[in-house]
Amino acid sequence: MSAGIGRRYDVIIVGDGVAGCFTALHLPRDYQILMITKGGLEESDSFLAQGGICVLKDDGDYDSYYEDTMKAGHYENRAESVDIMIRSSRNIIHELIGYGVEFTKNADGSYRFTREGAHSTNRIMYHDDETGKEITSKLLRAVENLHNVTLLTHTPMIDILERDNSCDGVLIETQDGERKPVFANHVMWACGGIGGIYENSTNFPHLTGDALGISLRHGIKLDHVNYIQIHPTTLYSTKKERRFLISESVRGEGAHLLDKNGNRFADELLPRDVLSQEILKQMRIDGTKHVWLDMTCITKVDIVKRFPHIFEHCMSLGIDARKDWLPVVPAQHYFMGGVWVDQYSHTTMKHLYAAGETACNGVHGANRLASNSLLESLVFAKRAALNMVERDASDEMRGERRFFNTLLDKDDTEIQRFYYLDPDDYVDMDKFESGMKTAIWAEIDRENKITGREVHNS
Ligand SMILES: Cc1cc2nc3c(=O)[nH]c(=O)nc-3n(C[C@H](O)[C@H](O)[C@H](O)COP(=O)(O)OP(=O)(O)OC[C@H]3O[C@@H](n4cnc5c(N)ncnc54)[C@H](O)[C@@H]3O)c2cc1C
Repeated sequence: MSAGIGRRYDVIIVGDGVAGCFTALHLPRDYQILMITKGGLEESDSFLAQGGICVLKDDGDYDSYYEDTMKAGHYENRAESVDIMIRSSRNIIHELIGYGVEFTKNADGSYRFTREGAHSTNRIMYHDDETGKEITSKLLRAVENLHNVTLLTHTPMIDILERDNSCDGVLIETQDGERKPVFANHVMWACGGIGGIYENSTNFPHLTGDALGISLRHGIKLDHVNYIQIHPTTLYSTKKERRFLISESVRGEGAHLLDKNGNRFADELLPRDVLSQEILKQMRIDGTKHVWLDMTCITKVDIVKRFPHIFEHCMSLGIDARKDWLPVVPAQHYFMGGVWVDQYSHTTMKHLYAAGETACNGVHGANRLASNSLLESLVFAKRAALNMVERDASDEMRGERRFFNTLLDKDDTEIQRFYYLDPDDYVDMDKFESGMKTAIWAEIDRENKITGREVHNS
């Protein structure tokens, strides 16, 4: 409700997934923070992550982990970002455990590590097949316990308040449908991916790349917007709904991909982009709308215990994974590109940060290595928070921030006018959103033409 919204905060965080939560948790307790989400509290992709989170198990694995990440990314990754992510990983896992996150263990109490496509060894920590829910729910609970964070659901960011390439805050739509400008020393975009602009995606449909649309309006630099990961195995459905993911760790544990005649046709642990192409090729050869995934050949683990969430979901659709094959098809899954950021998650606009799937710090290159994204989101969200605090300490910053204090007592309309935000642009929100979507697709198309990559519109 707008009644609970102040005029000015130290930091506004857009998004309550892992990137948003970790930012809030690493800011000082005397900062006033506004955290907004477009959907409900648990409607972030972070809750959906199944497979797990990578970690540098021991120093001896550094070279191999680095090489796997670079190779999966077709060596288009930013080397420095990859190095930062890997070296920060153990610390992040310790922090998560400190927030009460439980990872699956062996009988002797040691942590169990699993493996997914393109990893040359087992280095993924997980919690059954609901790692994202375990991590995000614990972080969210910690954020909810912070007295300095105001957390509002169903409160979308519509635009930013920009002056001379400096971000002074955010224009939000309150739960009563009011447009409200809110000031902040720093804004963090933790708005997730772009699956909502696709017909077939594993993402929540409200994740429509809003930060990208706003960047295009304000000339904020984007990077690799056409680097889009298609997940090879989502459950085939004829319904118009979010595609249910069959985690790569299912193949990591030994499931086979089969053509219409029940023959294997590809190495199941190929990098995602390559395997997706193999599956699409096989579907063309077979003239089918899906291929099959056979979990009955998994012998090392009990699939009901190892993949309880996937098993139950399939059962609810009448598919018993212990004896039936699963129909699977590739679908849009992850966005490697995004709002360009530096090593501290700072965008090309002053006081505007981005982390998580919205941002592109170059960790993933042209293709993400499985289970690197939760880790990357956490590592670079924390770096952003620490950088905000560092900047706040500088004299230059203090002088700059005095500026919008002069606007604090103006009314909402006057402020919007000051920032050249035309209320007429937001009268018809459906039209506004479809305009943003068209602009994002045009940008993806433009990049595709420049780089010669294919548009993935599955
Ligand atoms: C099915 C599935 C399985 C996955 N499995 C794994 C895995 O095993 N391991 C792994 O590492 N990664 C996995 N991923 C990827 C990973 O979950 C995401 O990349 C990561 O969680 C992104 O976190 P985030 O905080 O950046 O965004 P999200 O968690 O998606 O959160 C985005 C937030 O932004 C909010 N938002 C968006 N636009 C606006 C707006 N305009 N105004 C206000 N709020 C807005 C949303 O409401 C939401 O709260 C998986 C993804 C999916 C979809």
